[in-house]
Amino acid sequence: MKKLALHWKIIIGMVLGIIFGFIMNSVGGGKNIVLDWIKPFGTIFINLLRLIAVPLILASLIKGVSDLKDISKIKTMGLRTIVIYIGTTLIAIVIGLSIVNIVGPGKGMSEDTIEKIKSKYENDAGVVDKLTKASAQKDAGPLQALVDIFPKNIFKSLGDAKMLQIIFFALFVGICLLLIPEEKAKPLELFFDSLNEVVMKMVDLIMLFAPYAVFALMANVITAFDDTEILLKLLNYGFCVVGGLALMIVFYLILIKVYTKKSPMWFLKNISPAQLLAFSTSSSAATLPVTMERVEEHLGVDKEVSGFVLPVGATVNMDGTSLYQGIAAVFIMQVIWPEGLTFTNQLVIIGTALLASIGSAAVPSAGMVMLVIVLESIGFPSDLLPIGLALIFAVDRPLDMCRTVVNVTGDATVSMMVAKSLGKLGEPKPKNWDDNYEKVK
Ligand code: ASP
Repeated sequence: MKKLALHWKIIIGMVLGIIFGFIMNSVGGGKNIVLDWIKPFGTIFINLLRLIAVPLILASLIKGVSDLKDISKIKTMGLRTIVIYIGTTLIAIVIGLSIVNIVGPGKGMSEDTIEKIKSKYENDAGVVDKLTKASAQKDAGPLQALVDIFPKNIFKSLGDAKMLQIIFFALFVGICLLLIPEEKAKPLELFFDSLNEVVMKMVDLIMLFAPYAVFALMANVITAFDDTEILLKLLNYGFCVVGGLALMIVFYLILIKVYTKKSPMWFLKNISPAQLLAFSTSSSAATLPVTMERVEEHLGVDKEVSGFVLPVGATVNMDGTSLYQGIAAVFIMQVIWPEGLTFTNQLVIIGTALLASIGSAAVPSAGMVMLVIVLESIGFPSDLLPIGLALIFAVDRPLDMCRTVVNVTGDATVSMMVAKSLGKLGEPKPKNWDDNYEKVK
């Protein structure tokens, strides 16, 4: 019998998790059962993915750079990656702003609804937490983000999973490996090559657990929703974000077709497990190991390229997040600060949403923290900020799930494009978890 493809297994797990979540919502004490007995399996899965993300970035990037055998190629790759990342992010923001201005989801929201949302979420711990985190970010100096890329203790960076610091260190080691005699470089290269293989195998094994984990994650998401009435009131806004995100996916598929000459359907089929995990976990960082595995083994991008483009992308390229920030900022203004809706302010939003998406951590709801900074950049009244966040808080999780899918798909698309431009897009060579199992069982 033909084995069911992984993405189908994950989809079945998700659907069953959603159904189970609804059932538990209607049973007394059901929410607690999910919280105590189901959610932990989702958490274990995310922990395992995060566990391997750091060694994977380190190993694949050092190995990748030393394999390029040419420092000028690293420069070309770096430059192309950054230019395309910025380009796609700007397009995402413009799409978002166009949609929200045309549809106007915030226009005409009744006072009664605003009051209801305000009283329910204005002092919600989640909203307060976002505001506190945003003010910590904002207090840093203008060049702090740059300073933060350079670690003073790599072990601390590894422990705290500081992605950009790890990327910098790995690039540094990789370049120095190129600059020392080959016989001296070999042992370290072999070490990281081997580490890379081991971690990739870990991804295969962890993915065996994915269908069950997404069941747990989805059941938890469903039981966490508590106010469907407010959710319905925000449907217009939600549709604008989801519609914009869908347009972004179409845009990526066009890029794949036109630039890499590959079939969009083939691309979607092969990247779908990463997209489904992005959706279930709301974290591009947790999804990164799977994105790397899919892009390298199933889409045929050489390690040299994926090892650089994907970790950088997971941290700085968030097209879904920036599109969302554009729409959310304007939506909030339409509802509570219409006088701020000027053309200049929208231009400022393009710039700050670009920077904010670069600065957003690749973890759940980070985009909402940075939204505060986008709003502040246009002089949004600070006393209205909690109300602004309260307005979009109820639907943030489902939208976060969707924008994370776009973030991950964007990274995968750009890695295909950069690989193609460098002649590093080859034939996919998928590996299975049990390729070697017969010999050792
Ligand atoms: N959850 C998103 C990600 O990890 C970031 C965000 O938009 O909140 O990519």
